[in-house]
Amino acid sequence: MTLSSFHPPVRTLMGPGPSDVNPRVLEAMARPTIGHLDPVFVSMMDETKELLQAAFLTENKLTMPVSAPGSAGMETCFTNLIEPGDKVIVCQNGVFGGRMKENVERCGGEAIMVQDDWGKPVDAEKVEQALQDHKDAKIVAFVHAETSTGAVSDAQALVALAHQYDCLAIVDAVTSLGGSPLKVDEWEIDAIYSGTQKCLSCTPGISPVSFSERAIAVIKNRKTKVQSWFMDLNLVMDYWGSGAQRSYHHTAPINALYGLHESLVILQEEGLENAWARHDKNHQALKAGIEAMGLSFFVDEAHRLPQLNAVEFPAGTDEAKVRSELLNRYNLEIGSGLGPMAGKIWRIGLMGFASNQQNVLTCLGALDAVLSDMGVEINSGKAVSAAMASFSA
Ligand SMILES: *Cc1c(COP(=O)(O)O)cnc(C)c1O
Repeated sequence: MTLSSFHPPVRTLMGPGPSDVNPRVLEAMARPTIGHLDPVFVSMMDETKELLQAAFLTENKLTMPVSAPGSAGMETCFTNLIEPGDKVIVCQNGVFGGRMKENVERCGGEAIMVQDDWGKPVDAEKVEQALQDHKDAKIVAFVHAETSTGAVSDAQALVALAHQYDCLAIVDAVTSLGGSPLKVDEWEIDAIYSGTQKCLSCTPGISPVSFSERAIAVIKNRKTKVQSWFMDLNLVMDYWGSGAQRSYHHTAPINALYGLHESLVILQEEGLENAWARHDKNHQALKAGIEAMGLSFFVDEAHRLPQLNAVEFPAGTDEAKVRSELLNRYNLEIGSGLGPMAGKIWRIGLMGFASNQQNVLTCLGALDAVLSDMGVEINSGKAVSAAMASFSA
C-alpha cells in the first residue's frame, strides 16, 4: 500500500473524451461542499437548469443533469419511454447505436434495427422504410454525432420523419452538445441526452437530459412502473422538476455540479454559435495539416464532425506505438478506433476547451515527429505550416 497522494500528469486530451477540462471548471469544483437541500445550492440547481436549456436551445421544463455519465442519460431516456412490448426503430452506424439496441431489449422492447455502414450518416430513406414496415413503432432512436466514427447525421430530418409516423424521437447528443449545431426545440426533439466530458469540457460523470411535453405525457401515462428506481423521472421530477419540492431523492454530486454550472457559464459567455464556429475553424486547420502530411479522413467531408476527426494511417503503421509515443513524449492523448475500427483509424478530438489553435499545432507537430521517427511514409514538415495557413486564411 502506497500512502502518498495521487498526482496525475498534465496531459493534452485530444481523444474521444474526456477532453481538456477548463481550469475554471476545476477551480469551481474545489469550492466548499454545501448541503444539497441548502437554499443556496437549490438556487444554483435552478440556474443550472436554465443554463442547460440555453445550451440545448429549448424551453423544455424537464431539462436537468442526471447524476451519472452519458450512458446513464441514455438509460434514463430508454427506461422512461419504453414499456415491455414497445417497438423501437434503432439506427446504428457505429458503436453507440448498438448500445441503444441493448437498452431497448433490456426494457423489454423490440428493437427494429436500421443499419448503415460505419462512417456514414443514418440514411433517412432506410428509416422511412422501417417506419412503413412497422406502423406500430413507438420511437425512433439515433445518435446525432457518432463518436466512434466521426460522422454526423441529419437530426432535424430524422426527427421530422419520426413525427410523420407518430413516433417519438430519442437523440444521443453526447458529442454534439456545445460542439456543433443542435437545436432541441426547433428540431422538435422529444428526448435527448448528452455528457459533460466532451464539448462542455467539464469532468466526466454527469449527463444533461431534456424531454418535450409530448415525451412527458408518455412517461406520465405509463401502464407499468419504470424498472429503474434511480432513473424513474416521475420521482426525479420532484427533485429537479418545475415547482419541485426538493425532497430527498438522492444526494446530488454537489461539487461536480459546480463544475457543470461553470462550464455552462463559459459556454454562454462565448455564445453557442461562436463555440460551433470555433470547433469548425480548428477542424479546418487540423484537416489542412493532416492532408498536407498525406493522411486522409475516414468520413466524407459532407458528414464530418468538427469535434471528432477520424484519421486513416498508412497500412502497416504500428498505430498503438504512435499513440504511446505521443503520450510519453508529448503528453498528448489521441484515441484509437473502437470495435471494427480498431487498428484502422485514430480519433483526434477537438472538443470544447481542447478545441484551440495551440492544440491543433501541437498535435500536428507531434504526430509529424513521431511518424517520421518511426519511418512511416508521410510528407514530413508540411503539416504545421498548412494548419497555420488555414488559421490565417
Ligand atoms: C461518450 C459517449 C457516450 C457515453 O457517455 P459516457 O459518459 O462515457 O457514459 C454515449 N454516446 C456517445 C455518442 C458518446 O460519444
